[in-house]
Amino acid sequence: MNLNKILSKQKLQTLHKISSRSITLLPNQAQVVIVGSGVVANSVAYHLVENGWKDIVLLEQDSLGSGTSSFGSGTLGLFKPIDERNIINYSIKLYKKLQAEGYNLNIEQVGSINLATTKDRLIALRRRMAFNLPTGLNCEMVSPNEIKKLHPHINVTDVEGGVWVPEDCIGNPESIRSTLASLAEKGGARYFEKCHVSEVHTSNGRVYGVHTSQGFIKCEYFVNCAGMWSRELGWLCNPKVRIPIYPAQHFYVTTEAVGSTSTEPAALYSRL
Ligand SMILES: Cc1cc2nc3c(=O)[nH]c(=O)nc-3n(C[C@H](O)[C@H](O)[C@H](O)COP(=O)(O)OP(=O)(O)OC[C@H]3O[C@@H](n4cnc5c(N)ncnc54)[C@H](O)[C@@H]3O)c2cc1C
Repeated sequence: MNLNKILSKQKLQTLHKISSRSITLLPNQAQVVIVGSGVVANSVAYHLVENGWKDIVLLEQDSLGSGTSSFGSGTLGLFKPIDERNIINYSIKLYKKLQAEGYNLNIEQVGSINLATTKDRLIALRRRMAFNLPTGLNCEMVSPNEIKKLHPHINVTDVEGGVWVPEDCIGNPESIRSTLASLAEKGGARYFEKCHVSEVHTSNGRVYGVHTSQGFIKCEYFVNCAGMWSRELGWLCNPKVRIPIYPAQHFYVTTEAVGSTSTEPAALYSRL
């Protein structure tokens, strides 16, 4: 069978990039070294490039985007404390801008409903609303009947109420990650796959270089974007850096389109 028929043009270009990346030698120094290649690492690289930084190297122990970024359900939820919400608000604006420029990120403002099936949970949601409203979040309490109107598939017989957040969005996490990566790469950022960082060297409280499976690289700035591995990476610094991140199990199921759905508060969420 013809390979071109099996692989789309885009996939062939990606393969080409990956193979050329694996034959490029790791430089012995860079101004900024970023560890990871998920959405956070690519966002850091993209923003550095946007602000005129050129000498940026990203190191990924596996293949690009192989961490948790490719598994996200892509919900951009704003029902959060103000600091977190500011970042999410900024991200939504950025992704909408990139989408308007022609990048297909599947950003859509669909809104979301946080459900309460117990009175206690409803009180907890009201409390969250109380500190979210004064800081400018557009959200409102909704009754079971209003929930049914917003989302006819939800069985509201055991629902006490909920919070409707109309400005919540969804997007395609893999497209977001790869778009930020290609824009960073266009701006000069260099990516290295199969490059595991095994030691972070410091002097006078500053990182001056990292030891990797492809050799040593000196740097002025080091950015730990290793996601759920960040804590481990912190332990690889000398002296050790304590990073308060601990991975938790997250089960998920992907299905064909379903006719109906039900959700449990806090434990389960659904994205159609
Ligand atoms: C099932 C699921 C659903 C989710 N849904 C949502 C959602 O709807 N909305 C939302 O906002 N978030 C969601 N998340 C969370 C979100 O996906 C993550 O918070 C986000 O992707 C983390 O990105 P990251 O760049 O920090 O980490 P990652 O994408 O995990 O990237 C870290 C990278 O660092 C690399 N690395 C680690 N250690 C080293 C080392 N020593 N040397 C070299 N490389 C190293 C790893 O290989 C990895 O590729 C979901 C997560 C899961 C699992």
